[in-house]
Amino acid sequence: MNFHILTLFPEMVMGGLNTSITGRAIDKGLISVEAINIRDYSKDKHHHVDDAPYGGGAGMVMQPEPIYDAYEALAARTGKRPRVIYLTPQGQVFNQKIAEELAKEEDLVFLCGHYEGIDERALELVVTDYLSIGDYVLTGGELPAMVMIDCISRLVPGVLNNDVSAEFESFHDNLLEYPQYTRPVVFMDKAVPDVLLTGHHKNIETWRRQKSIERTLERRPDLLKDAVLDKKEKKYLEELIRQKEEKETKKL
Ligand code: SAM
Repeated sequence: MNFHILTLFPEMVMGGLNTSITGRAIDKGLISVEAINIRDYSKDKHHHVDDAPYGGGAGMVMQPEPIYDAYEALAARTGKRPRVIYLTPQGQVFNQKIAEELAKEEDLVFLCGHYEGIDERALELVVTDYLSIGDYVLTGGELPAMVMIDCISRLVPGVLNNDVSAEFESFHDNLLEYPQYTRPVVFMDKAVPDVLLTGHHKNIETWRRQKSIERTLERRPDLLKDAVLDKKEKKYLEELIRQKEEKETKKL
């Protein structure tokens, strides 16, 4: 997969993404990441890329022309017109499902705004998707672009050493992941659950699914309405809910 980031701060995104798992994926050629400096497309002799907003108001707005030209240059160079994601607090909130959908693309462009944002005309001309990383406002789109590229890259075959590990993580089947343990067997008087030491794969899998259901009910009950559960698991969940309600009425 090829990620192209339109940004005013190339060193910020490349520094982060060249590190650890995404860095190794770049070295192995499983993904490519290029940061395109929007400033390089400024026709202004001082390389200005922003100006005051028409109609007044605080801050500066990124001008449309350098952004439009940067995208057109990318399209001409690659012979493709990839989807363009504008990182914005006004977008749909990014999640694992959106990541899975985006991972099917060969090329993706991430457009990072800064200051007060981007002139609407550039957005109308080049943007295909508006995505946010949450209901809060950051100084720029660089961190959101890194968050999304990190998440999507993990879904590219070969990026994780162990491909199954992405499959059984939180949000798979709309459940949170079960608790994980490693050596030592006992730490500060806390022992690893017995079932995990038995080597009995079927029992371990059942235990893990049950813990996933418990944890999701406890921490993110909103996910459960779309959880993929078999008949036994549905019963298990119903019983947990019944016990929870019983506890709550006892408290009253
Ligand atoms: N004035 C804009 C508004 O109220 O919608 C916010 C601009 S923000 C200070 C500057 C840039 O940061 C945005 O253009 C966007 O690229 C990025 N940004 C800020 N918060 C974000 C979020 N939650 N998700 C994605 N991008 C965000």
